[in-house]
Amino acid sequence: MAHHILEGGFQEWESPLYQEALKQFDHVAELMGLDHNVADRLRVPQRALVVTFPFRHDDYSEVESVFGYRVQHVLTMGPTKGGIRYALDVNLGEVAALAMLMTWKCAIVGLPFGGAKGGVRVDPLHLTRAEKQRVTRRYVTEIIGFIGPSRDIPAPDMGTDEQTMAWIMDTYSQQVGHAEPSVVTGKPPELGGSIARREATGRGVMSLLPLAAARLGLDTDGARVAIHGFGNVGSYAAVAAAEMGCRVVAVSDISGAVYRGDGVDVAAAMEWVRRHRTLEGFGGGDRLSNEDLFAVDCDVLVPAAVGGVITAANAEDIPARVILEGANGPTTTEADAILADRGVLVVPDVLANSGGVTASYFEWVQDLQHYFWSESEIRGRLHEIMARAFREVAAVADEHRVDLRTAALIKGIGRVARAKLVRGVFP
Ligand code: NAD
Repeated sequence: MAHHILEGGFQEWESPLYQEALKQFDHVAELMGLDHNVADRLRVPQRALVVTFPFRHDDYSEVESVFGYRVQHVLTMGPTKGGIRYALDVNLGEVAALAMLMTWKCAIVGLPFGGAKGGVRVDPLHLTRAEKQRVTRRYVTEIIGFIGPSRDIPAPDMGTDEQTMAWIMDTYSQQVGHAEPSVVTGKPPELGGSIARREATGRGVMSLLPLAAARLGLDTDGARVAIHGFGNVGSYAAVAAAEMGCRVVAVSDISGAVYRGDGVDVAAAMEWVRRHRTLEGFGGGDRLSNEDLFAVDCDVLVPAAVGGVITAANAEDIPARVILEGANGPTTTEADAILADRGVLVVPDVLANSGGVTASYFEWVQDLQHYFWSESEIRGRLHEIMARAFREVAAVADEHRVDLRTAALIKGIGRVARAKLVRGVFP
C-alpha cells in the first residue's frame, strides 16, 4: 500500500501552510487518479537542510544564533529553484510547503526546475544593513554544498532583495574561486542580474488581470484594486495596475493599510517606503487595519504579503470579484470553497506569481550563456509564457469544470508525475 512514509507521521514538516499544500495536493491527486506510488513520493520534500549559525550585531559584543533552512522538494526535473525568506516566523514546515508550491509553479509554466525554498528566522526590519550582510554570508556558507548553478539556485523572497542576492553571489564566488553569477537570480544588473527581474512578479500578476477579467466580463478600465503587502511584489503590482488604467484604492504593509477612494499615489507611497521602510506615517490616504483592507470595496484584490490571510473568517466579506494571488499560499482551502461559491475568480499563486521565477529562469539562462537580452525581449517572452500558461490552465478548468487552482495543479502535478514515471526508481 502507499503512504509508507506517513506511517511514522511526519512532524518534521508540520505547519499550517504545509497542511494547506497537502490538502490541495491530495484533492488534485485523487481527482487525477494519480499513481499512488508517485503521489506518496511527492507529498514530502526530497531533501532538507536545517542549520543554526551565529552572527555579530553591530554592537560587537552581541552574538545571536539563528535558524536557517533550505528545502528541495523534487530533484527530478533539473536543478531546484526558489526564493530565500527572512522572517521571524519562518520554520521548516513553511519552507517545505513553499518548496512544494515552487515545484508545481515551475511545471505549470514549463521551466526545467524542481521547487526549492530557503529561509532564515530573523526579523529583517530590525537588522541593520551590515547585520543583514553578515547573516546572509554566514547562511550561504552553511548551505554552500547544497546550492550551485546546476544544483539549486536561490532568489529573493520576503525580507530579501537584490543586495541580498549580490552578497549570496559574492560569498559563493569567493568559495569556488571565480565569479559565479548563475548561482542565484534576482541580482543587480551589474552582476548579471536581469533588468526586468525586480518588477517581474508584480507586473506578471497584473498582466493576468485582463485574461481573468474577460472570464467574468469585467471591464478593467478604472477597476478598483486593493493590494495587501507593499514590498517587491505588491508595489510593482500597484505600478502596473496604475499603468493599466486601474485605480489602486488601498495598499498595506506590516504597519497597516492606507485607503484613498480616488486612488493612492503609488509613486509617492513607494518613495515613502524607500525612505522609511514601511507605510507608517504616510499621509496619502486614510489609515485602516490590514484586516479592513480585505473588506475594502474594490473589484480586484491582490494579496502580496504573507500566507494564510484569506480564511473562512473573512472570505464571505471580500467584495472583490477577482483575486490575483501575488503572495504564496494566501488562501486557505475553506476560503477557496467559499469564494468559489460566491463566484469570485481566484487566480492561484502557482500561476499568478510565476512571473518571478520565469524572469529568474531567463536570468539564469543569460548568465550561463554570458549573453544578455534586451528589456523588451525579456518582457515580451515573459508575457508570452504567462499568457500561454493562463490559457492552458483555463482550458483545463473548462474541460474538467474545476476552479483555476485545481486546473493549474492538475497541469503542474501531472507534468512532474510523468517525469517521475519515465525516469523510474533508482536502483
Ligand atoms: P517583501 O519583503 O518585498 O514585501 C513583503 C510585504 O509584506 C512588505 O510590505 C511587508 O511589510 C508586508 N507584510 C509582511 N508581513 C505582513 C503582515 N503580517 N500583514 C501585512 N503585510 C505584511 O516580499 P515580496 O518579495 O514582495 O514577497 C511577498 C509575497 O510574494 C510572499 O508571499 C512571497 O513568497 C511572494 N512571492 C514573491 C516573489 C518575488 O519575486 N519576490 C515571487 C513569487 C512570490
